[in-house]
Amino acid sequence: MLLMRFEAPAVFSHKRAATTLPAGWYAYCGSAYGPGGIRARLRRHFRRDKTLHWHVDHLTVLAEPIEALAIAQGSECAIAAHLTRTRLFGPALPGFGSSDCTTCPSHLLRWQS
Ligand SMILES: [Zn+2]
Repeated sequence: MLLMRFEAPAVFSHKRAATTLPAGWYAYCGSAYGPGGIRARLRRHFRRDKTLHWHVDHLTVLAEPIEALAIAQGSECAIAAHLTRTRLFGPALPGFGSSDCTTCPSHLLRWQS
């Protein structure tokens, strides 16, 4: 899970459309089951100089700071669901990071307060 803060509204391209997220704290719930595991994935998320490949890349180059919580064997859907149940977080952008997910409205959540 990445915790990201935008001091000012974050303007970026999402699904080929200009999108703006209000300033604040966001949680992105993702998985890291590819080559290199969590270490490689987090190293990429924290890098500023990278080719923007995934949706979240557009956010990680704008956020300051970025914090990460690695949950071994975790499920991004379970983490997103848990955070949503607390009512401290709510879906930030429909379909963000969850385009291949059938249960979550979004894997990007916004801290409500
Ligand atoms: Zn999901």
